[in-house]
Amino acid sequence: MKLKLLAFTLILCLILSACGNVAGVSVPAQNTETAVKTAEEGAASGSAVDYPAKPDDTAGDAVTGASTATEGAITGIVYLTFDDGPCGYTDDVLAVLDKYGVKATFFLTASHPSMFRYIKDIADAGHGIGVHSYTHEYYQCYASEEAFYDECEKMNDVIEEYTGYRTNILRFPGGSSNTVSAKYVKGLMTTLSAGVEERGYTYFDWNVSSGDASSNATVNSVIANTEKGIKKNRESVVLMHDFKKNTLQALPHIIEWCLENGYELRPLTADGPTCHQKINN
Ligand code: ZN
Repeated sequence: MKLKLLAFTLILCLILSACGNVAGVSVPAQNTETAVKTAEEGAASGSAVDYPAKPDDTAGDAVTGASTATEGAITGIVYLTFDDGPCGYTDDVLAVLDKYGVKATFFLTASHPSMFRYIKDIADAGHGIGVHSYTHEYYQCYASEEAFYDECEKMNDVIEEYTGYRTNILRFPGGSSNTVSAKYVKGLMTTLSAGVEERGYTYFDWNVSSGDASSNATVNSVIANTEKGIKKNRESVVLMHDFKKNTLQALPHIIEWCLENGYELRPLTADGPTCHQKINN
């Protein structure tokens, strides 16, 4: 019996030992788990490598598209306008405009007959020309409705003499919103604003003032007022005067700023933006 018991114990030990080995087989299971995990990470990594290429390509197309659109589009249109000439700095202003190859508009008076020759230069260079009155003396041009129409035609006679054509654009001295005319005739601007249109003129005010006619204007203030007033995605009509040295000196900076920022500079025509202000008389 003792031998039989010993044999049974030995067999039992062998079986338990085998079970231990079976339990040991579970180790490769852990390895398999790790392997699966690694495969998932690999897949994720693979995706991470694959996908960025598409967004990059798309971004590239978008940039190319945007770049093309920017090249074709302009930020806005700027109409530089110079009132009260021909006068002291008209030829210098023309030289600056010519240097940059840009066009502007001159609203003229007959205050300086010795400089009438510049009217031809303005026309020959392709700039816009408009009537601003003959005398620019408020007590004369705003003395009556007929007085203003007479001044318009007299100034247009001068323009025709030097350019060969009559203009159909006009700017009132002091702008259509002036109140000085009320000193001479009540309601005059209400009558004139309709009357000049009936006579075939389109009148223009402005939506950007350079402030150059102010007694305390400086080169820097003219630049700052103008560049602050010009807005993107619209037509900006800038009021300036070519009898002001500050304006002449500010002009290169203003033109360069416009061109660098994508603005196009054009001369006014009758179908341009009139920027009419509120009539106050
Ligand atoms: Zn003026």
